[in-house]
Amino acid sequence: MIIPKSTRFTPEQLNEVTAIVTEFGCKVQPIVGAVRTIYAIVGDERDELMINRLEGLAYVDRIDRIQSQFKLMDRRSDLASHRIAVGGVTLGEELFVIAGACTIDPKNPNYFYETAQAVKEAGAHMLRGGVWKPRTNPYTFQGDVKSMDILVEASRRTGLPVDTEVMEEAQIKVALDAGVTCLQVGARNALNYSLLCAIGKAIAGRDDVVVLLKRSLHMGPLSEFISAAEYIAAFGNPNVILCPRGTAPTLDGYRNHPDESITPLLKEKTWAPVVVDPSHSVGKASYVPACALAAVAYGADGLCIESHVNPSHGIGDDPKQSLTPDVLAETIAQAKQIWALRRGAAAARS
Ligand code: PEP
Ligand code: MN
Repeated sequence: MIIPKSTRFTPEQLNEVTAIVTEFGCKVQPIVGAVRTIYAIVGDERDELMINRLEGLAYVDRIDRIQSQFKLMDRRSDLASHRIAVGGVTLGEELFVIAGACTIDPKNPNYFYETAQAVKEAGAHMLRGGVWKPRTNPYTFQGDVKSMDILVEASRRTGLPVDTEVMEEAQIKVALDAGVTCLQVGARNALNYSLLCAIGKAIAGRDDVVVLLKRSLHMGPLSEFISAAEYIAAFGNPNVILCPRGTAPTLDGYRNHPDESITPLLKEKTWAPVVVDPSHSVGKASYVPACALAAVAYGADGLCIESHVNPSHGIGDDPKQSLTPDVLAETIAQAKQIWALRRGAAAARS
């Protein structure tokens, strides 16, 4: 829909607008109102270049898009009935939990093996463990590919599928060859379009692999987040789980600005499941359970929680924000109650 700056286009302006949309296979249909006329674009209005050229005209106020720019991830797209099943759970049907260490310590693999067993007993469906780590400080531990063997062994011992972050193209193949089920795109790489394309291509057509796409610290409108998911889908695989994990600027006292409250807004726009990461959102173990429960109350399909059998002996984020397995178990139990309440309320409304 083209909205002119004045009450209607002059005949010359209408000719110019018509010439542009015609180049892109569309037509213009004026909609005459009592005080102003607006102009519908009839045809596929998703071509970015056409929109940019129209927006560049001095006499155009704005373009309101009717069609979604998300051909695959939109709630009304052909993929709307697509379901993602992982770790024995179809997302949306029961609360899905990913838990485990922030960072695998290659020098102390037993911590990770014990953590893996403990998070399984606490109710997690998938084990997380950072092999490669995006660290703000270049002098801190950056991860170690040797940890991949530990992740795989922990998966073998527990039977849990595993999630790990990939930061560059070469790591995608290493992770897939090792049998990683969930490729995590971290907050720092959520806007790295070449990585998103490479992931989509590497897992094209595979229904046994999913992507956990974190929300970037600096993402603006929600459409930017959904567009990042659209990249992965457009290049080959729609198994993308959206993961709000807090944004910048921080809320004083928390690690980031908690953003679990965007869940209902995401659900209005996309069919993609939402799994909230409260650990990076608030950044301190004592705040994590409340944030996790709030996320489920807001409608999240699952949670991704950092947990460690002995947080003070962990590395990376674990000493400050990992839950001990008993607190994790309690949080999962309470989150399931909120899930059941939500379900009950939804059933009563329908
Ligand atoms: C992590 O999951 O440990 C991590 C680094 O997450 P994020 O990309 O959200 O900071
Ligand atoms: Mn972490």
